Amino acid sequence: MHILLVRFSSMGDVVLQTATINWLRAFFGKDLSLTFLTSEEFVSLIDHHEGVQKVIGFNRRSGESWKDLTKKIDLLHEENPIDLILDLHATLRSFRLRCSYWTIPALTVDKRRWERFLLTKIKITAFKKLFNANIFGLTFQVERILNDFEAIFGDNRAVRRTQEFRRGPHQELTSLEKLEAYSVEGPYIVLAPSASFFYKRWPIQSFVTLAQTLLEKTTQKVVILAGKDDDFCQEFNKINNPRLINLQGKTNLKESMAILSRSSLSIGNDSGMNHIAEAYGVPCVTLFGPTDPRFGFAPHGNKSVTLSKELYCKPCSTTGKKECYRDRHYCMEMISPQEVLSSALKILEIP
Ligand code: SF4
Repeated sequence: MHILLVRFSSMGDVVLQTATINWLRAFFGKDLSLTFLTSEEFVSLIDHHEGVQKVIGFNRRSGESWKDLTKKIDLLHEENPIDLILDLHATLRSFRLRCSYWTIPALTVDKRRWERFLLTKIKITAFKKLFNANIFGLTFQVERILNDFEAIFGDNRAVRRTQEFRRGPHQELTSLEKLEAYSVEGPYIVLAPSASFFYKRWPIQSFVTLAQTLLEKTTQKVVILAGKDDDFCQEFNKINNPRLINLQGKTNLKESMAILSRSSLSIGNDSGMNHIAEAYGVPCVTLFGPTDPRFGFAPHGNKSVTLSKELYCKPCSTTGKKECYRDRHYCMEMISPQEVLSSALKILEIP
């Protein structure tokens, strides 16, 4: 059985599909061969996963064309005929792919767009206050997908139903030197202040205040992880403390994964970094602004905490991409550094 899994983006969603991979492996057993198709920038998220035989990257940003992609899939199909396309993205792009290979059976997931649309447009938060009930009861997205699989294929409840990564040689090779070079050793807390969209970010000044108080209240180091373009993280350099390690723009994805996997706690926005941390079993504090935990992407670890304010305007978009229409960014500004600190200390069991 050769299955082509399709999920182009985003980082967190690709990480969440490790639950799908585990489910398929447990269900189909050793005869299963899995190929994962994703955007080139996320190949290193998944290429080490023991359940995936091959990863195909689509590099649209650097000009790879649709024709180039279909050539790769043609080649794959020639080498090892694809029995099923599992479209975990369910967008126009993945629909086009399914149409291009219409002779291959395909399944697509239901992303509950309608429920998310209603939650965004008619503000279930307001309804919840009125009726004291969550009308739609949206649950963890991966859980819903696996429930759908079980309705099609059959029972497989024994499998862990959350994302999962294991530490292994794929990280050790590239990352240990880097960890040593930047003194990322001993217990440390990761702060991940970036997010795919501006309005999903907790204000940088709140992150800086949090970093300062974490350094005062704990003996742990504080490591900042962010991408090359996240220059706003230079604000952390104002903190004069050798236990603050600002790695903004200094690590690649695999190195960031290695750092997260060894951390005692990860604190960040509703973004991929906390999904990676959770996949390694690291507890998280996740800050939700314009998006809503009820979309089904909140952390779910026993010790993990979600912080999200109830506002009439929230959620204002399904992805957090839409510009804030209020005079201030209340959904994020109302989450105080003290509140985040309290959650962090509770997780770390520091009185
Ligand atoms: S304050 Fe309200 S409108 Fe502005 S980003 Fe947050 S949820 Fe959206």
